[in-house]
Amino acid sequence: MENILEETKNIMKKYGIRANKSLGQNFLINPEVVENIVKSSNINKNDLIIEIGPGLGTLTKYLLEKAGKVICIELDTKMIKILQDRFSKYSNFEIINADVLKVDLNQIIKNNKNVKIVANLPYYITTPIIMKLLEEKLNIESITVMIQKEVADRLIEIPGGKNTGAITYTVYYYCESEKIMEVPNSSFIPEPEVTSEVIKMNLRKEPAVKIDNPNIMFMIIKSAFMQRRKTLLNALTNTKVFINKQEGMNILKKLNLDENVRAENLKLQDFADIAKEISK
Ligand code: SAM
Repeated sequence: MENILEETKNIMKKYGIRANKSLGQNFLINPEVVENIVKSSNINKNDLIIEIGPGLGTLTKYLLEKAGKVICIELDTKMIKILQDRFSKYSNFEIINADVLKVDLNQIIKNNKNVKIVANLPYYITTPIIMKLLEEKLNIESITVMIQKEVADRLIEIPGGKNTGAITYTVYYYCESEKIMEVPNSSFIPEPEVTSEVIKMNLRKEPAVKIDNPNIMFMIIKSAFMQRRKTLLNALTNTKVFINKQEGMNILKKLNLDENVRAENLKLQDFADIAKEISK
């Protein structure tokens, strides 16, 4: 792998680029991290890779070598010119100048079978991007992303573990996830204020729990975590998920859950069971 730091500095100088903080631009300069992202994404010539936020193209270059096709989605028009100059000679390169939150990813994926998402994400919209990738039920195999460590730890936690948040359940429902590596601030220019982490989410063939109406379950999880300092019973009574405290106590008792239990101690199956009780 060439000297990425030098290459990045040269491109920034040539095109007069200064990192745009409001677009979450922190450019990767650590070859070990690039190598690990590409390797853990497990890319082959049958794959369509969608790269979100390619920036100057540091990762893109290696994705293009390995994949059948790479479609990049980048919001910053300044980056588009650089990417075109660098990669238009590759027949498997395509770029879309758009906000990833607004594009129709199903339309981009079409009938492609082996689709993988790879990205060093803009951190200011990590959660909405991950939620979009999961909730739009895209036909994708995996999502390998670099994000801020604090969020990463929540995404890859097993529900009930110490980093559990509402999003933990969503990721667990759709994916089996793994930590790839922790990444120090010094791996970017400019350095972000937080430590980063690369994680990989492998989409499950079947969701982790069977439930007729997952939306009700996710609504309950959201309500429970809106008041996470309270007991689950109080949180779900206050948010009117339980008609009243007595109904809540009956449901918890039936499901063998302690009436003082807190949301973050529940497994996904517990929330699925509560949803089933509520729907009766
Ligand atoms: N992939 C490059 C790298 O690793 O050096 C750049 C990563 S940088 C952390 C995030 C990239 O996402 C930037 O290029 C930024 O312009 C782009 N970006 C920010 N908001 C975006 C959005 N809403 N849609 C698409 N790209 C976005």
